Amino acid sequence: MSHTVAVDIGGTHIRAAVYEPDSITPSAHKRTRSLAKEPGVYGRLERAIESVWPSGTVRAIGIASPGPLDPHTGTILATPNIPEWQNFPLTSTLSQRFKVPVYLDNDANMAGLAEWQFGAGKGHENLVYLTISTGIGGGVISQGCLLQGFHGMGAELGHMIIDPEGPVCGCGHRGHIESFSSGPSIARFVAEELAAGRESSLRSQPNIGAVQIAEAARAGDGLAIAAFERAGYYLGIAVANYLAVFDPSILIFGGGVSQVGELLFKPFEESLRKHVFHPHYLDDLVITKAALGDDAGLLGALALARMKTA
Ligand SMILES: [Zn+2]
Repeated sequence: MSHTVAVDIGGTHIRAAVYEPDSITPSAHKRTRSLAKEPGVYGRLERAIESVWPSGTVRAIGIASPGPLDPHTGTILATPNIPEWQNFPLTSTLSQRFKVPVYLDNDANMAGLAEWQFGAGKGHENLVYLTISTGIGGGVISQGCLLQGFHGMGAELGHMIIDPEGPVCGCGHRGHIESFSSGPSIARFVAEELAAGRESSLRSQPNIGAVQIAEAARAGDGLAIAAFERAGYYLGIAVANYLAVFDPSILIFGGGVSQVGELLFKPFEESLRKHVFHPHYLDDLVITKAALGDDAGLLGALALARMKTA
């Protein structure tokens, strides 16, 4: 009866948990601040894993981490959240330390895998998961397989080009869907409109983020409503593209921005219907919210380790 250890590495926290076979409730769990911008992240990660290590045998460790990374070699290529990890061989370093196989993939792929195995996507064979928060991340299950790709860099759905002349994305390129519909992109649009002289109740707000804009929109503010309409419009174009490539039976939305509900999803669905290549893609297509919340990365890492050692 061997256990599986799962790890979720975030910008603010590292979480490590151990699971008995067939269970998705951890028998031990450790949450520690990652202090990701400060040196020594690897040491803090190792100690978090040690603190949950069971007395019985462990079959594997699974890890969800921000990318870009190479899941085939287990290398973190460069993650803006953790500056000291440049081409860092994470899985081989941990494997030498703990003497078990270690598997790694990016946090959005892992959240998609978790929603498929344990959450809103159970029973589906073709699934597109999209998380909309400070960035936009994606995970794809295609015909019952996690899509990783040749370089392990498939399913980067947030960096699909919508307009090559569009705003600058978090990655530095222009016009990716993340540059239109992420939380900071929605806030940037509002700030630009205010700077251009547009009237809005948001003018008196000291800090304008997606949460404040959603509140203003619900109170009827025209600029705030327009900001979500714009984000939803572009999101509909992006998803029309995803449908043409992956033809999923379910679309799952996670992340803080997707919590705003109709403000975003009404214009999104209108745009999707307008832009989709053929209406048959929409027949019986389920559009729903993620079910696993903050645990999605951890549970995806668990699913990955079990899948690889099955
Ligand atoms: Zn980008």
